[in-house]
Amino acid sequence: MANHFPLIPDTTLDEKDPDLFALLCKEEERQRDKLPLIPSENYVSKAVREATGSVLTNKYSEGYPGKRYYEGQQLIDQVEELAINRAKGVFGVDHANVQPYSGSPANLAIYAAFLNPGDTVMGMALPMGGHLTHGWNVSVTGGWFRSVQYGVSKQTGRIDFDEVRVLAKRERPKLLFCGGTAIPRQIDFAAFAEIAKEIDAILVADIAHIAGLIAGGAHPSPVGHAPILSTTTHKTLRGPRGAMLMSTQAYAQSLDKAVFPGLQGGPHNHTTAAIAVCLHEATQPAFRAYARQVVKNAQVLAEELLDRDYDLISGGTDNHLILIDLTNKGIIGKQAARALDKSGIISNYNTIPYDPRKPFNPSGLRIGTPAVTSRGMGEAEMRVIARYIDKAIEAAKRGSEMELDRIAMAVADLAKQFPAPGL
Ligand SMILES: *Cc1c(COP(=O)(O)O)cnc(C)c1O
Repeated sequence: MANHFPLIPDTTLDEKDPDLFALLCKEEERQRDKLPLIPSENYVSKAVREATGSVLTNKYSEGYPGKRYYEGQQLIDQVEELAINRAKGVFGVDHANVQPYSGSPANLAIYAAFLNPGDTVMGMALPMGGHLTHGWNVSVTGGWFRSVQYGVSKQTGRIDFDEVRVLAKRERPKLLFCGGTAIPRQIDFAAFAEIAKEIDAILVADIAHIAGLIAGGAHPSPVGHAPILSTTTHKTLRGPRGAMLMSTQAYAQSLDKAVFPGLQGGPHNHTTAAIAVCLHEATQPAFRAYARQVVKNAQVLAEELLDRDYDLISGGTDNHLILIDLTNKGIIGKQAARALDKSGIISNYNTIPYDPRKPFNPSGLRIGTPAVTSRGMGEAEMRVIARYIDKAIEAAKRGSEMELDRIAMAVADLAKQFPAPGL
């Protein structure tokens, strides 16, 4: 039987859309030949990518397993239940919702569940290492809600819990966020829980950056301290771009309702499937080894930078990321990040706590080890990378493009020896 309407021939991407295909090939090359030190990025496995590109992208399934607003859910329900059960197993939680489209909408769902506009939220200020969605003023979470922000101590670069407590008791937030995007130290969930209890606030642990470390046993878990966990799935957890909300039973129903129908329509089932895959990977012994190595690598990288007189916020790291104050090096974050990019080392410029410069042109540089560790790199390679970072920054100060090109060649050589997974 012939197709009645062969309007668009069903061909492969390279034949159908050579322009886009060429861009994807170049991006794959870039990811292969350069070293990503952006702490929120990673390389997913072939299996995760396969699930992401699967037929589940064709299916609508508003609602939750067993309670859908569309038919044809026989298999989708099983996929989502698999993801939910694996999340509960990996993180040891009562409840998991795997439908949030990404970390920001996941956090917004928490507001929708527990706050009314104008209610008070407290979180870490963005320039101190927090996230936009923890009440920063340019985010709707800082506009529609009354937001109170804490930071880190200027001396130690760490959270001062006495300060947080004073602020919390004065401002009485309903919701208290801990976690962030540029915090190089372990989060003391117990200390936050104590404060939340004193003011009767709901504590949310936003573990977007460190979920993989927690799953792999390389960072303490917030479970038992924070009743609500929010996480992305695409950072250290090494899954697809997506998010999860996890909680104790008491908060389960409100969170589910806030995600759907409160905030979202149909879940991205192909993402749900890939989340299930990454959670399965996270239960393997190899993933525990990975999480430990991520931290070990960051610590070696930090030591090497300290030896070269780099000023690290909080003096080092105990997770996957390092925040560098470049002031004493006489270069600003953007210049350093551009020079590193030319050298094949991808980082991002970042504000540092109490940054005297503007957010779009800050004093700091943020680097991390999740992606290079996924390529199988260890301590020896971190020492080499630290040397290249320093060389590139010194070259940038001299304006030596030739030196940057030379470093780029050496970096490409190193990258070749450690093929990226999934490519
Ligand atoms: C990355 C991140 C988010 C937001 O995730 P998106 O998927 O980019 O929306 C939220 N909170 C924290 C702490 C993050 O690091």
